[in-house]
Amino acid sequence: MEKGLLIVLSGPSGSGKGTVRSVLTEMEDFAFSVSATTRAPRAGETDGVDYHFITHESFEEKIRNGEMLEYTTYNGNYYGTEFSEVLAAVESGRNLILEIEVEGAMNVKRIYPEAVLIMLLPPDFAEQERRLRGRGTESEEIIRGRLERTHAEMKYFPRYDYVVYNREIDACAKEILSIVHAEKCAVKRHADAAKRYFE
Ligand code: 5GP
Repeated sequence: MEKGLLIVLSGPSGSGKGTVRSVLTEMEDFAFSVSATTRAPRAGETDGVDYHFITHESFEEKIRNGEMLEYTTYNGNYYGTEFSEVLAAVESGRNLILEIEVEGAMNVKRIYPEAVLIMLLPPDFAEQERRLRGRGTESEEIIRGRLERTHAEMKYFPRYDYVVYNREIDACAKEILSIVHAEKCAVKRHADAAKRYFE
């Protein structure tokens, strides 16, 4: 059985990762890892769907038990991916998307060098700010923190494999699908193809 791709999707706050995710799932089958976080749910978010919303203590217990594939702190909260969310899906051949920030992405790449790292960006910084404010779900302090963090996040940009600009959501999702399809055909992912061809 061919393994599924492990796709890491990062992007600064306001890049539209959540929207891209829902459009992608309408276009094709993807597994999504549900991260654990200690931040409070936003209006409209559901526990077990958007995140596993857990306490600080539970999160630290998972770290101690070696259950986290990767984790980081972001604006004072823990965010992380559990091994259990990832392994079964990829082994069963489904392509899995991890929607995580840059430091987590680097950790995933270290553990799974075959992961494909995609950076999703708004057209420019001014548009990012407009989208973030337009969301209207966060305080001014949080918005400033998220915008400020973008400078640090962009330092990791050269270590990504692909960049996709989110100008229009359907076009953006289609570009991500093209990347996924091309990566599935990469010769490096078919190391035993010549041998199997003659079987
Ligand atoms: P938000 O609070 O906007 O949902 O997420 C804040 C940031 O945390 C986003 O950049 C998001 O991609 C990232 N994030 C969400 N889940 C995880 C995770 O499991 N691990 C890491 N490293 N980052 C995450």
